[in-house]
Amino acid sequence: CAKRAGRGRHAVFEPAMAAEQRTKLEIGEALRQALADGELLLHYQPVVDVATRTVRGHEALVRWDRPGHGLLLPGAFVQVAEETAQISRLGAFALRQACRDAATWPDRNLRVAVNLSPLQLRDPALMDAVADALRDSGLAPSRLELEITEGVLLERTEAVLGAMHRLRAMGVAFAMDDFGTGYSSLACLRSFPFDRVKIDRYFLREAETEEGDAAIIEAVAALCRRLGMTCTAEGVETEGQLRLLARAGCTEAQGYLFGRPVPQEDLLRARMAAA
Ligand code: C2E
Ligand code: MG
Ligand code: MG
Ligand code: MG
Repeated sequence: CAKRAGRGRHAVFEPAMAAEQRTKLEIGEALRQALADGELLLHYQPVVDVATRTVRGHEALVRWDRPGHGLLLPGAFVQVAEETAQISRLGAFALRQACRDAATWPDRNLRVAVNLSPLQLRDPALMDAVADALRDSGLAPSRLELEITEGVLLERTEAVLGAMHRLRAMGVAFAMDDFGTGYSSLACLRSFPFDRVKIDRYFLREAETEEGDAAIIEAVAALCRRLGMTCTAEGVETEGQLRLLARAGCTEAQGYLFGRPVPQEDLLRARMAAA
């Protein structure tokens, strides 16, 4: 896949850059400690069937309960984890915890989706991290799905393809996350063995009024059917958006309309209440 633009960084030295670098190192160091101290946790958000609203699975989203800073969202630390070589540890934590949690869910058919940094696909330790998480939890591999975003870091190399094929051979599925926002989403679909596409919420935001956005969603859903992949829309917040997805032939949906990301305890409590 193609490279993304360099996030507006300047090549020349600036004091602001030095400060930014220092902050990054500080967060990185704090994160290293947090991983050891168990300050990271997962929240879960439901993914539902568009036609029936039945829950099909949950996506695991990492949070950092950082003392004195409150609950931090991934936007505040995942990139730092990538840049300070801690993404594999963060990833191993997410895999282990998500598999362990999913193994306790009363409904044995529910999937759990774990986000992976493209960097992890090049890490030889990933295979063991997945295998260990599955073995220790006893979770059926078919219930685990790994979500990857397109990006500079996702390169079509033997190592990356080999890792994906070996994991799929174990029974694990792959979803392409945030589809349509990168420079070469279509090339990514062609180059890698994905089972699912997750349409970025950017396309849904104004889809009820913007014909073009609705057309793109329809086209992606049709493409998925043609390629034998399932299709999930992200960021569904209104009933109107849900109707639009049904018309477009998109099979699954995720968003605040169905539930925000919540801790595992709340998930179980909500299910008990619904039952
Ligand atoms: P993502 O995988 O695309 O996850 C969906 C994001 O959209 C989540 O943000 C979720 O809270 C948010 N969202 C869900 N429904 C709605 C909605 O209806 N409206 C709006 N406005 N937002 C919605 P979050 O939790 O802040 O995560 C951001 C990103 O961080 C994720 O995007 C994913 O790329 C990354 N991430 C999360 N957990 C992990 C992890 O364990 N490892 C790695 N490497 N990345 C992670
Ligand atoms: Mg995701
Ligand atoms: Mg996404
Ligand atoms: Mg995203």
